[in-house]
Amino acid sequence: MLLRWKQTLQSLKRTATISKVQAIKNLSTQIKKQDVPTEKLDCVVIGAGVVGLAIARELASKGREVMVLDSASTFGTGTSSRNSEVIHAGIYYPPGSLKALFCVRGRELLYKYCYEHGVPCKQTGKLIVATGPLEFSKLNELMNRGTQNGVDSLKMLEGFEAMKMEPELQCKKALLSPVSGIVDSHSLMLSLVVCVESFYVTFLNRSRVISYILRELWLLIDRDINPI
Ligand SMILES: Cc1cc2nc3c(=O)[nH]c(=O)nc-3n(C[C@H](O)[C@H](O)[C@H](O)COP(=O)(O)OP(=O)(O)OC[C@H]3O[C@@H](n4cnc5c(N)ncnc54)[C@H](O)[C@@H]3O)c2cc1C
Repeated sequence: MLLRWKQTLQSLKRTATISKVQAIKNLSTQIKKQDVPTEKLDCVVIGAGVVGLAIARELASKGREVMVLDSASTFGTGTSSRNSEVIHAGIYYPPGSLKALFCVRGRELLYKYCYEHGVPCKQTGKLIVATGPLEFSKLNELMNRGTQNGVDSLKMLEGFEAMKMEPELQCKKALLSPVSGIVDSHSLMLSLVVCVESFYVTFLNRSRVISYILRELWLLIDRDINPI
């Protein structure tokens, strides 16, 4: 893939006060004339959140030369560093969906990765509770759905059993998901960064991708000058 940078759409627009469409056309012409700096790479990953970092690691481990771009000044500043850090079991997604498939498989792979790379995580288990009889059917539904998704060892508990596990809890029934857990998402992302840095991976921060044309295999990148 050919990657073009340092030639921003914004600067083109600023100098020529032209429309975005016209600016892209002009840039395309310039690229064809070869007067825009280019870089040849196997793969470009846009976004250095946990997903982008994991993809970069996978590609790089297969011998690909990868560049990871992010609009922020460092990796993992988006949703990946502001979530609940739960390792989900895979109970909630519709059976047969890719989300269900990936959640169950991803959970297994995530625990394995964390144990192998010393990323803090804990298989705490999780209780989904019903505080009254009206919620029993919902718990049964979740249990059936989870079982269909391949979530192991789900167990329906009576209220007293759940409250024995968690004395502060008040409930009538609870669905126990033993495979749910928690992970330190910052350590996870740092570990992925350390992994990818041992391969042919370049990080380009403050580089917001504003446009791309896949057919011609080039990317137009707007690099922010000021740190966020
Ligand atoms: C409140 C909340 C709680 C959650 N809790 C959990 C949980 O407990 N367990 C769980 O598994 N999931 C949870 N999630 C979901 C999880 O956080 C996301 O699925 C995950 O972080 C997505 O990762 P990502 O790498 O795709 O996105 P992000 O972390 O958002 O990364 C995207 C990156 O792309 C960059 N970017 C965006 N646009 C551009 C551009 N044009 N050019 C260059 N770079 C760009 C951003 O700067 C960012 O760094 C939660 C989500 C929310 C909102």
